Amino acid sequence: MNNTVTVLKCEKYDADLILTKMNEAWELCGGKDSLNVSGKKVLLKPNVLSDAAVSKAATTHPEFLRAAIRFCKTHGAAEIFAGDSPGFQKPGFKAKNCGLYNICKDEEVEWYDFSQKNITLACPEGQMVKQFVVSDIYEKADVIISLPKLKTHQLMFFTGAVKNQFGMIPGLLKSSFHMRFPNRNDFAAMIVDLHSALKPSFAFIDGITSMEGPGPGNGIPKETNLMLASSNLVALDAAACRIIGYDPDIIPILRNAIDRELWLVNSNDYEIKGLSIEEAKIENFQKIRLTGSNNQLKDFLIPRFLRRFRYNLNPKPFFSKSKCIRCGACIKICPAKALEISKTEKMVKIDYTKCIRCFCCHEVCPEDAIVVKRTPGTSGLVS
Ligand code: SF4
Ligand code: SF4
Repeated sequence: MNNTVTVLKCEKYDADLILTKMNEAWELCGGKDSLNVSGKKVLLKPNVLSDAAVSKAATTHPEFLRAAIRFCKTHGAAEIFAGDSPGFQKPGFKAKNCGLYNICKDEEVEWYDFSQKNITLACPEGQMVKQFVVSDIYEKADVIISLPKLKTHQLMFFTGAVKNQFGMIPGLLKSSFHMRFPNRNDFAAMIVDLHSALKPSFAFIDGITSMEGPGPGNGIPKETNLMLASSNLVALDAAACRIIGYDPDIIPILRNAIDRELWLVNSNDYEIKGLSIEEAKIENFQKIRLTGSNNQLKDFLIPRFLRRFRYNLNPKPFFSKSKCIRCGACIKICPAKALEISKTEKMVKIDYTKCIRCFCCHEVCPEDAIVVKRTPGTSGLVS
């Protein structure tokens, strides 16, 4: 498998500049041997975690999508679609707030609604899952180009090209996987299963403005001025991890993918073109602190008094009374049904004995009203 990763400087969200960089990166990755869109139907898959404002850097930047559309047009794509499915979305979702929908309109590209129709995707090599339900766009597209944002992730520590494919599973169907696989490593294996089932693709990572700190929804935008590209998404994520200071060997998705030896045989088994890892390295990138298993279900084997102690030490979500607008998004997405509106306090109330620490609530909160921290406490409220 082609394991070339290209890393380039890209200082601003200017579609012409990004297109130039995309062309350069594509050539360095092997040109048509690494990605050939000529005469093909192409799905461009940005990361639309939630329809947040561009300034939050939670989603792929609209000008990055514009450049990718123009890249496909330049290289003779027959048809281009763009779309994604946030965890919490209504049917007919259009990514207007984050600017992606309007770019599609400008460029006369169809914004595809992933909730329209589902199909079953076989996953013969799956360790955890033998078939997935995905949007029918998968059948319509010949090629998928992933356009992830370079970000931290509370549960998976890092989110890049491989994790971005989770969006192929429509809307709330995604959160049910957290109940099926509450253990972080099992969840990572499921994501890699999905990667093994999807057709070969290519990815350009938007690392011009990245997200550090408590990502993927409410972290801190950071100017990192980079674009990364590869047809080997595991190699690409391994390189991106090194650039922000994570060891890919301890990132659960990459650890599982590398162990399968389908894409890389070790975490350095790729060829870097453009900038070296050292040249691209982002100093002091705020990362999520690594923790072990988050398997709360297994904890039921632990005596109750020790369990309570352990719950209090594990990172968990806390809800800010002053920031919460009671929109209910966290309640709707919570796969463990651990949240409700307290009638007395008129505020979100959490039952920590049900919470599986998936942090879906933190991802979808539009007001940054949820913090994930270790501080002991059982009320679930912060000021
Ligand atoms: S915590 Fe966030 S997602 Fe939940 S109800 Fe409040 S504002 Fe909405
Ligand atoms: S409360 Fe939040 S972290 Fe806990 S299970 Fe629900 S969505 Fe996941």
